Amino acid sequence: MSSYNLLMLPGDGIGPEVIKEVERVIAWFNKNTQIKFETESELVGGAAFDSHGAAISENAMDLAHKCDAIIFGAVGGPQWDNVPFEVRPEAGLLRLRKDLDLFANLRPAICYKALADASSLKRNLVEGLDILILRELTGGVYFGEPKEIIDLPDGQKKAIDTQVYTTSEIERIARVAFELAKTRKGKVTSTEKKNVMISGVFWNNVVTEVHKNEYPDMELEHILADACAMQLVRNPKQFDLIVADNLFGDILSDEAAMLTGSMGMLPSASLGAVNEETKKRNAMYEPVHGSAPDISGQGIANPIAEIASFAMALRYSFNLTEEAQLIEDSISSALDTGIRTPDIMQEGMQKVGTHQMTDAILSQMNLKS
Ligand code: NAD
Repeated sequence: MSSYNLLMLPGDGIGPEVIKEVERVIAWFNKNTQIKFETESELVGGAAFDSHGAAISENAMDLAHKCDAIIFGAVGGPQWDNVPFEVRPEAGLLRLRKDLDLFANLRPAICYKALADASSLKRNLVEGLDILILRELTGGVYFGEPKEIIDLPDGQKKAIDTQVYTTSEIERIARVAFELAKTRKGKVTSTEKKNVMISGVFWNNVVTEVHKNEYPDMELEHILADACAMQLVRNPKQFDLIVADNLFGDILSDEAAMLTGSMGMLPSASLGAVNEETKKRNAMYEPVHGSAPDISGQGIANPIAEIASFAMALRYSFNLTEEAQLIEDSISSALDTGIRTPDIMQEGMQKVGTHQMTDAILSQMNLKS
């Protein structure tokens, strides 16, 4: 029997609503399989601020360091718009990413057959789409120094951001890309702007070296980031795994995500390096969406992004590939029955709430197991 510790961080708005649904899926595994999950729950975001004046407590951080994986909901909401910047709800999320050194952000873009018409692209371009965008999350232009607006002698101002990457930062994200490629189609597409950026030349060289020295059996292709953006809408199925820096990864992952339809469908994982002593990897799994204050409290939030995030935890933290697949297939089959939460509602389909969508997914898990 395997047993794992999960830290649940529901957060604000629809965060607690969708976490409640994932807890039902966790309970299903505890009841029906030999895999046991123990869960602890802590406050984060606005809820944590209201309770103890910080976006995440030291106790929650301590648990985050010790657990096997974090399942995160969402944070934020208009009621915290005027709290001091350092303790705003998002500060809890950023502290988790920074303190746990979660440098690799995985965002799959999977187009479920039943939802192919919800994409802004033609069905034949997106049906069956299954790509993974791997974004470097803790370096690059979002963090590089100097980062400032300065006064010039002639009365103008000058704004500076700095794109900066070291060899080891690129090597470690490249290794994650090739390791993930082993579990997929064995192909990595690396993207940068080496035609105009020296950091792009460097990124390209380091990824090429890692490929040559450590993963010669994998396929590697390079593409300029602007061409990649164009190809993602022209012929997205040509890609399997795209690795990009923080800036290009941010943009390309949003673009790829929208190929698949609604915000309520998109999971993500943020991973740290494997600790050599404990052999454990820090990891946090969260939906791409926010706290959706406009629909919170109504029981209509789509729980699929959160449940699919848990499936990513099974795959990437616990190597439970079959169990992850069971959840993903059950989501797909539940959608095939014609039920939809309001965010993905289509003509002729049956509108359901958060709880009923999970009911349908659990029924499919019962049928398939
Ligand atoms: P959002 O993702 O919360 O909502 C955008 C739109 O998508 C809304 O119309 C919402 O109703 C819909 N939506 C989102 N998730 C859904 C779901 N599961 N089911 C059905 N519909 C869903 O983004 P926003 O409105 O820009 O931000 C709201 C709050 O969330 C803000 O405070 C923002 O700072 C915060 N936020 C947090 C995170 C995070 O915790 N990771 C991410 C993004 C935004």
